[in-house]
Amino acid sequence: MTKIGILTCSNTTQELGCSSYLCFQDFNERAGAFARYKDLDDKPVIAGIINCAGCPTAHAPEKLLGRIKSLTEIGLNAIHLATCVTLLCPFKERYLNMLKNTFPDIDFIEGTHGHAPGVTPEMFVGAMKHMLTQQKPSISSIIKKTIKKP
Ligand code: SF4
Repeated sequence: MTKIGILTCSNTTQELGCSSYLCFQDFNERAGAFARYKDLDDKPVIAGIINCAGCPTAHAPEKLLGRIKSLTEIGLNAIHLATCVTLLCPFKERYLNMLKNTFPDIDFIEGTHGHAPGVTPEMFVGAMKHMLTQQKPSISSIIKKTIKKP
């Protein structure tokens, strides 16, 4: 059985609440980057999914290694970097090089879901930027009303 894992971006899962619906939908339909499994005789399964460990700074991409253990230690054949990671992550190339060197027996593949008809990668990125930069109310908006003036 081909066992697959997915690494997602914590901006989309933790900040925006993505449930990885599109990744699972395209996996179930063998679409997007999962089309490669269409003709497999065995029944591929998604065995695990986890989001990245958050910003590693420019100096510590190895931070991801501890995080991705939960996927690399369960006997996977392949790990897909989710489409959000491939389009948004400035560390993608460094992550990929490090992961391929550290886990030579696992295939690391860029991408999971495709895009809806008429939606370009640029539109996807623009929508993500819009959502990530929405101003949320903060506790300071309440606190400042209680600050006593001298
Ligand atoms: S390091 Fe990359 S994958 Fe992780 S939150 Fe930042 S942009 Fe997303």
